[in-house]
Amino acid sequence: MTHHVVVVGAGFAGLQLVKGLAGAGCRVTLIDQRNHHLFQPLLYQVATTLLSTSEIAWPIRRVLRNRPDVTTLLARVTGVDRVTQRVTLENGTTVSYDTLVLATGARHAYFGHDEWEADAPGLKTLEDATTIRRRLLLAFERAEIASDPAERDANLTFAIIGGGPTGVELAGIVADLAHRVLPREFRAIDTRTARIMLIEAGPRLLSVFAPKLSDYAAAALERRGVQVLTGRPVTQVSRDQVVIGDQPVPCRTVIWAAGVQASPAANWLGAEADRAGRVMVNAHLTLPDDPQVFVLGDTAHVETDGKPVPGLAPAAKQQGQYAASVIRARLAGKPLPAPFRYVHRGNLATIGRNAAVIDYGRFRLTGGLAWWIWGIAHIYFLIGVRSRLAVGINWLWSFLSRQNPARLITQKETGRRG
Ligand SMILES: Cc1cc2nc3c(=O)[nH]c(=O)nc-3n(C[C@H](O)[C@H](O)[C@H](O)COP(=O)(O)OP(=O)(O)OC[C@H]3O[C@@H](n4cnc5c(N)ncnc54)[C@H](O)[C@@H]3O)c2cc1C
Repeated sequence: MTHHVVVVGAGFAGLQLVKGLAGAGCRVTLIDQRNHHLFQPLLYQVATTLLSTSEIAWPIRRVLRNRPDVTTLLARVTGVDRVTQRVTLENGTTVSYDTLVLATGARHAYFGHDEWEADAPGLKTLEDATTIRRRLLLAFERAEIASDPAERDANLTFAIIGGGPTGVELAGIVADLAHRVLPREFRAIDTRTARIMLIEAGPRLLSVFAPKLSDYAAAALERRGVQVLTGRPVTQVSRDQVVIGDQPVPCRTVIWAAGVQASPAANWLGAEADRAGRVMVNAHLTLPDDPQVFVLGDTAHVETDGKPVPGLAPAAKQQGQYAASVIRARLAGKPLPAPFRYVHRGNLATIGRNAAVIDYGRFRLTGGLAWWIWGIAHIYFLIGVRSRLAVGINWLWSFLSRQNPARLITQKETGRRG
């Protein structure tokens, strides 16, 4: 019987693994709860009206159309039985495996306050991005028709919680939207009076970057009209306000960019996990007691030089590539490759139009040139010529015209309480 590899998750790690198994002589079943592979690093641009959903996501079936050895299933996995080597799907059916690869990513974590999610959505899926986009645009619309000045001000107050790359990128574009894109279109309000707060509990923004780059990011955001509040934990979020420390601020739009928690793969496997729920794997990226089970990407805890590999797209892709080489070696009866080592190529983040920070260790860059390098790097990593062209043209158009093309309010609000 042909060896059967079941891969759960068609994100960066899962898809890279499947690509790496081309011609390996095994049968692959790729299961994902969504029908698309998503380029998460540009999600914030969908949330802030710069890009459309189809520009950063691709149907998995289409991506793998030339791979007759791969079967794609749209299904949610709910469990794994390691004894019978079967994966359970939400509809109750099971899929048997010879080798299992779990690459199910992470979700946002609310540090014990899951009740905040309805009022402070995080950014992980296309649905999250369109929810945030709708709330941002509706807030300006509601301010335009508000007769009560307090209500108008609350609608023009935006809180972004979390000063990592996603929070910084969101704050920069929301500021661009309020200050450059929208002012000429509203009559009753001046969108430039919008208050955009970026709230970070730690002492500085972009804590994984060099301190100088954090300072640059904070100054660049402040120049754009963002209020940067560091060392200030959020203690409460509700429909009408956010409480920073003990100070309540009336606010109708809150975005969560503060923490992540791995998918529940550790529970499915009954395996040891770290505090973020990531499964502890060995240097071959398998469970220490079960070499047939690989765990990759944001769901895995693996270390290089004593440090945990970060939750980044290149790290997930490197793990996918590596796990494919291990499976190929086993199938061919060859010696296993050397243990996995993550190669870090640097950190990048944008701060809105024409400003970015790049931290490649010794090589550090800020400003307009960094922004262009950031843009070219991201276009390079998109899938297919159509997406690269579409995103490149959209960015150029937005840069020259100061317009954001994807400003449609679609669907009704469903997630919010009250
Ligand atoms: C807003 C945002 C911005 C980011 N920006 C950057 C950046 O600028 N640079 C960078 O390097 N990294 C960035 N990242 C991190 C990067 O996207 C992740 O590290 C990377 O996606 C991890 O890849 P993965 O394959 O482990 O998981 P993912 O890419 O998250 O893929 C997981 C897949 O598993 C599927 N899945 C989950 N649970 C189940 C289930 N139960 N059943 C079936 N399928 C399931 C999901 O639908 C998904 O397709 C960003 C992340 C976010 C959210």
